Amino acid sequence: MTAFPRNTKPAGSNRRAGIAHKGNPAYVAALSALYGSAKATRIPANWRDRLPDPATYYSQHVAKLGHPNASGYAQGVCPFHDDHNKSLSVCITGSHGGWRCFASCGGGDLVGFHQRRTGLDFKAAVRDLIGGGA
Ligand SMILES: [Zn+2]
Repeated sequence: MTAFPRNTKPAGSNRRAGIAHKGNPAYVAALSALYGSAKATRIPANWRDRLPDPATYYSQHVAKLGHPNASGYAQGVCPFHDDHNKSLSVCITGSHGGWRCFASCGGGDLVGFHQRRTGLDFKAAVRDLIGGGA
């Protein structure tokens, strides 16, 4: 089940199959499908430094967010299920913005939370968070 059988050579070519890959439109198309274009997927190297402050972000997106405890975690209403008990715990003192819902919605970091909220994939969520747009 390989897309480029080793024994396939271009007709009339004495070149090795490996060399024939270069510039082969089907090969390039397959790579593009796998990785997308570099421009479309690249995010700034310093994206972690540009993420919003978790305290600010979560105060905007978590209802009834309380004050942080000694560990830096604050409880609020989970936006991912019909929550009446402040099941969500978010870390608002560190930079990673860790979160966990005790009603089994899962947990993760700030980017994961944003992905869950927006349905964006990882890189799109990062771009959205750092305000860079596309
Ligand atoms: Zn939840």
